[in-house]
Amino acid sequence: QQSSQQAGDKPAAEGEQQMASKDIDSRVRELVSQMTLAEKVGQMTQAERRHATPEDVKKYHLGSILNGGGSFPGENTREDWVQMIRDYQDAATSTRLGIPIIYGTDAVHGHSNVVGATIFPHNIGLGATRNPELAQKIADVTAREVAATGVSWTFAPTLCVTRDERWGRSYECFGESPELVAEFAGPLVYGFQGGPMEGETLADNKIVATAKHWVGDGGTTYGTGDENYEIDRGDTQLSDEELRELHIAPYKPALDAGVGTVMISYSSVNGTKMHEHKELITGVLKEELGFDGFTISDWEALKEIPAETNRERVVRSINAGVDMVMEPEKWQQFITDLTAAVEAGEISMARIDDAVSRILKVKLEAGLFENPLPPLANGPDADELLGHKDHRELGRQAVRESQVVLKNTDRLLPLAKGKKVFVAGSHADDIGLQSGGWTIEWQGKAGDITEGTTILEGIKEVAGGPVTYSADGAGAEGHDVAIVVVGEDPYAEGMGDYREAPCELCKPLTLSDEQLAVLEKVEASGVPTAVVLVSGRPLLIADQLPQWEALVAAWLPGTEGAGVADVLFGDYAPSGKLPVTWPKNLKQIPINVGDEEYDPLFPYGFGLTYAEDGRAEEGPAGEGQQ
Ligand code: BGC
Repeated sequence: QQSSQQAGDKPAAEGEQQMASKDIDSRVRELVSQMTLAEKVGQMTQAERRHATPEDVKKYHLGSILNGGGSFPGENTREDWVQMIRDYQDAATSTRLGIPIIYGTDAVHGHSNVVGATIFPHNIGLGATRNPELAQKIADVTAREVAATGVSWTFAPTLCVTRDERWGRSYECFGESPELVAEFAGPLVYGFQGGPMEGETLADNKIVATAKHWVGDGGTTYGTGDENYEIDRGDTQLSDEELRELHIAPYKPALDAGVGTVMISYSSVNGTKMHEHKELITGVLKEELGFDGFTISDWEALKEIPAETNRERVVRSINAGVDMVMEPEKWQQFITDLTAAVEAGEISMARIDDAVSRILKVKLEAGLFENPLPPLANGPDADELLGHKDHRELGRQAVRESQVVLKNTDRLLPLAKGKKVFVAGSHADDIGLQSGGWTIEWQGKAGDITEGTTILEGIKEVAGGPVTYSADGAGAEGHDVAIVVVGEDPYAEGMGDYREAPCELCKPLTLSDEQLAVLEKVEASGVPTAVVLVSGRPLLIADQLPQWEALVAAWLPGTEGAGVADVLFGDYAPSGKLPVTWPKNLKQIPINVGDEEYDPLFPYGFGLTYAEDGRAEEGPAGEGQQ
């Protein structure tokens, strides 16, 4: 059944595809007809690797295992991953029906949990490139690195449309415009999966993609939710028409590309938690838009449903159309409650069979019955794939294209080569900081957390002259030019949400006092200064901007920091454009293109270029929608 189709190849002839599809459908029906309730309930259960052993997979017929962000096996080497997944698969395939598990991970900007993998810019940076073809190549390369570790499923791409930068997940979105997000959705899915999963098995070493988080995750309204998750898991309040235009539309190209799975959002829409939103999951996603893969809950997300008991939450979510439940720790409770609810007639057997059929269909399409581990995982070249030089080169190209030059007084940029360069700032020489959240650890982490090139190392590589670095900015005097690299510390999910001071987790969208002090010190030296911002979203810098000669938004570039230097020194002329509006101050937020009173610091689509003589143009180029 294994198709040899590669990305870019023509799809199989109509006849062949129908044959394959018929075959898969009948295999699904045959399996479901033989399954006991316990086996069916097990298929619908996803547990986390630290809380479920291969023995558990066998005993409870678990359908899936995941590792949450940052939970990696052993020393986190490729071999550790492969061995872990092989143990689970051996257990699963030794059962009566031999149904393999599907193992999932958050490979959200490269294989981002694995040390040594190529880490690409987060989605906001890819949005700035305006280059969906490049994003497809990234997804293709990511699939290869993921497959090499034995994993068959990524929880990506995130198709959020970010409407409020106080949301700590803004950087996981391609931008604020649904058209922009939609342009990336299809190529990303195609890059991961290699072609529609419509009854056709995936090509070897392609992986199942997840469009997430259905739906409205980027549209939550500040000030309405639980104080711990005010924006992250808040409420999206929109008319049906607005919801469709802004948040549902970007899913269509992902569905057309045959995305295998869709993850449900923690948030609510007009007061109803998405995990119990039958109208939007079953009505719109499955029936109206024809999604025939399976839906997966988010991590422990049933807890979001306001009900008295866990069983009631299980009933409400499964009846709404959730097919597999990500219950990392308390999966046994889920199994008990789901079983009891079915036995009591609170959930029909037809609904259970539908959920299980969808899961088995995706597993068959993923080729897991033939190859429980992607063939690459056992291949002789697998070790070379993680962080392969071609992958890193692609990463560097993505970083180049994602840089947005926002200010360039007196054409300071591109910097002349061979001069005395002074580099300062916390984010100049730190792989962890430049990679952001969802890198090795869930929240990301400062420091030498994986292999790569820091921005400073990139500058040293291309500057063609002496480079001095001082984190705190002391000693700029006597240099020809200064580059100050500052920005946000890593965060993921609610932890990055904006809070009003004083509070423990404040992220007021401004530079820290220490960073401002570094900038002041360098400014006082009188050396012309280019500021590089490493951040997951626009920061509030209107007060400082007049003192800076040049400003570049680098977003969260990942491991290939040399791409930033390539733009600074003109080896690559900047082409990035803002994927979001850059506000002047807090009062303006939320601010989005199309708003009635639109007077931002930099508009959506803004980005300066270098003119043909290699010098920077002074006026805005590339303004407008695309
Ligand atoms: C996030 C998802 C992620 C899942 C598994 C959740 O907390 O919202 O985006 O895929 O965890 O790590």
